[in-house]
Amino acid sequence: MPRSAALEKKSSFKTWKMLIGSKWVSSQHSKTRTLLNPATGRVLAEVYEADKTDVNLAVENAKRAFEDGRWSKKSPGERALALLRLADKIEQNLKPLATLEMQNVGKPIKLAQDGDIPFAVDNLRFFGAAARFLEGRSSQEYATGYASVIQREPVGVVGLIAPWNYPFMMAVWKAAPALAAGNTVVLKPSEWTPLTTLELGRLALEAGIPEGVLNIVTGGEETGVSLTQHPDVRMISFTGDTETGKKIMTQTAPTLKKCHMELGGKAPFIVFEDADLEAAVQGAVVGAFVNTGQDCTAATRFYVQQPVLKKFLEAFVKKVSQIRVGDPSHLQTDMGPLVSEEQRQRVEGFVKRALKEGAKALFGGNRPREFESGFFFQPTVLAEAKQSSEIVQKEVFGPVVVVLPFKDEPQAIQLGNDVSYGLAASLWTRDVQRAQRVSSALQFGTVWINDHLPLTSEMPHGGFKQSGFGKDLSLYALEEYTQIKHVMTETTGSVRKGWHYTVYGEP
Ligand code: NAD
Repeated sequence: MPRSAALEKKSSFKTWKMLIGSKWVSSQHSKTRTLLNPATGRVLAEVYEADKTDVNLAVENAKRAFEDGRWSKKSPGERALALLRLADKIEQNLKPLATLEMQNVGKPIKLAQDGDIPFAVDNLRFFGAAARFLEGRSSQEYATGYASVIQREPVGVVGLIAPWNYPFMMAVWKAAPALAAGNTVVLKPSEWTPLTTLELGRLALEAGIPEGVLNIVTGGEETGVSLTQHPDVRMISFTGDTETGKKIMTQTAPTLKKCHMELGGKAPFIVFEDADLEAAVQGAVVGAFVNTGQDCTAATRFYVQQPVLKKFLEAFVKKVSQIRVGDPSHLQTDMGPLVSEEQRQRVEGFVKRALKEGAKALFGGNRPREFESGFFFQPTVLAEAKQSSEIVQKEVFGPVVVVLPFKDEPQAIQLGNDVSYGLAASLWTRDVQRAQRVSSALQFGTVWINDHLPLTSEMPHGGFKQSGFGKDLSLYALEEYTQIKHVMTETTGSVRKGWHYTVYGEP
């Protein structure tokens, strides 16, 4: 029996409840969803599907918690302490959290335990510290006789909606700055991967985050719609597909909510002829197949300068053939399954259509034969696709890349920018002037030079163009969850101010 199946047997099957206030509750209508382990296809757990009544209850709790000041009126230092305690709790529970994430998402255990969860701990510690550094521009007398002060205030009840690819990390990327700034939260994880987010709720209560400050509702689109339409939710922070982002903009329009949108990507990976080819090939495999390619910043469009194309392709395909696909519970596994059968069929559809349109598969393109169960797909390298084709233009969100040639620097920039997305890009060269020129010309929120993927808590992450707006990570993210108030105090005490005559009376 593979280890993940054994673990699954051990962890007793249960229906996971939602966190509203300080209580673990069922949906009022008791509707549930069954979750499968993507590596085995076997039943893993059952979760509730929150409907409008459940969402209303969660928002009511969050609103009460916001308005009575049990969190928003705490000093930044007190909020920081609670977040730092939560980070410690997560660290103490790293192994079980990583195992749960591996079982629910199908991601390799080494990525969950040495990547996602430790990074989430670091993010929380960063935002805990950052809570004490919120600032505005200077305060002074800008008009004679009036003192102006800038206050940065929490927005209120914030709805957080997360995707399935990095469930725990995305929950923390959103909840940590929202809470650090003093907001209260209703968090909705993806319907497919809610388990570690529910664990986050349990640890938050243990860490002393007051009841009602962090509420977690599970469910899919219906739950998300209720949250985005609720009049008492003042902001929606969303990470997910660009098309869902557009729907949410429409859903939030009638109540004019502040929106923060972290959407899809289609990252170019541009290799100039003077690049360190060995480093570029290594970076290409890591950048493309991380998390089975289910990563919004994953390298998906490879543009390689003509003179080194053949050499790059030979080395790249050889390395891709060495990726160890398999049971995600094994430390040696590089690539696990896709998150669901639905996602596998989606990815498969993209590959079939690309091949039909004339692209060539240099590696992969199919379901691997060695797995009887689980939602596996081979790492896939395509070539000879048209720049205008679907496989180059649309986000696949799976282990599929396209490699295309380019002639010179202007063409590399033009091809790199020629998509509707603008999340992340990388370029590979030893020429420092070219690196500077090309990184300036690329229309992406993050540009890496001679690497692809790394992010840090201190630096912003977010898209240009249809990859969205607003930043995750960094002080910029903290500011997203605040609103600025100008407080103006009359300082002379005189009854009749110098300017009053413009409205009433004589000068
Ligand atoms: P998705 O858009 O299908 O779902 C995301 C979340 O939105 C889920 O919780 C879902 O239940 C909810 N949802 C769906 N319809 C909704 C609606 N009408 N109203 C409110 N909520 C709704 O995305 P996904 O498939 O879970 O995740 C993959 C996508 O996420 C990819 O496009 C990927 O690029 C993107 N992503 C972006 C970033 C980033 O930082 N920019 C990070 C991770 C993932």
